[in-house]
Amino acid sequence: MPTVHRQQAFGDWTLDERLGDAAALRDAVSGQSAGAARVATWTAAVHTQTGEIATTCSGHGSCAEITILEVTNWDPDLAVFTPAMRLENLKDCMGKIWQEKAICDVCEVLLPDSSKLEGAYRKERRWPPG
Ligand SMILES: [Zn+2]
Repeated sequence: MPTVHRQQAFGDWTLDERLGDAAALRDAVSGQSAGAARVATWTAAVHTQTGEIATTCSGHGSCAEITILEVTNWDPDLAVFTPAMRLENLKDCMGKIWQEKAICDVCEVLLPDSSKLEGAYRKERRWPPG
């Protein structure tokens, strides 16, 4: 199972601030990853009562979201996830870019709506584009 990186909140915090911190930790940890993790899908979550954040990537047949919940043992109703991101080559001459991924079919069903950010990329809402 991919390693889950966790970071406690200190002092005063807001959910928006911690979601920003979570996205930054997601980007930092993924940027230092290698091998399969380098090209996996990454997300991070904030615990809405403690402000703790956790990030990991997909792997071993599990979504990053599910791995985070399994490792932290958080109640899904008390977690909010950042967008899921993945390095992808869209064959548009830009090389590999950090691209938001749609919430997958498994997470769409398993995770409560309260854990999904407003505006998060969800297939049935934003696909097909245009
Ligand atoms: Zn998923």
